[in-house]
Amino acid sequence: MRTDKPVACDSCDTRLETSSLSGLDYQALKDRVYLGNILGEIKFLLRVRDFFQRNPGAEQKYKPAFLTIIESKDPKVREALSSDIPFSIIEKTMNLLPNVNEKAPEGDGDIIEFLKYNSFSLPHRLQSLCEDATRFARDAPKVICPICKIGTLFLDIEIWKDDGPSDGWISYAR
Ligand SMILES: [Zn+2]
Repeated sequence: MRTDKPVACDSCDTRLETSSLSGLDYQALKDRVYLGNILGEIKFLLRVRDFFQRNPGAEQKYKPAFLTIIESKDPKVREALSSDIPFSIIEKTMNLLPNVNEKAPEGDGDIIEFLKYNSFSLPHRLQSLCEDATRFARDAPKVICPICKIGTLFLDIEIWKDDGPSDGWISYAR
């Protein structure tokens, strides 16, 4: 059934507008969506961790260009840096990044693309995401369907448009 109502029940066919929910219930449904996003990111970062384990040295090799430049011991690069030459020019002229043109290992292209633009501590990022996920999963209450009174409501992310940041688990703190 085609519908533009973003709130759905996982048991009956009920579809509702978000405006028919209480603020707290809507927040709980949003938090479930955010929980899904967090779990997706955790899954991806576990692949990154696995990639590093399979490819020793990859952590040094695949990283954002600016880090490669800052950490370079090449005297020409040091010289360019102290002459205030823009990073983008140094990157282009010094041929610093053999990884850019190198063929990505099979199946890891998305990971290498991600590492080109992201710099972070993997263990810390994973830990913080896992803590967030635990809190969301523990604290966001289930919202029972007002029609069948059996199913739980969820936001259909194909239809639902995020209309603001979550207050997160703070809303449920007692
Ligand atoms: Zn229902």
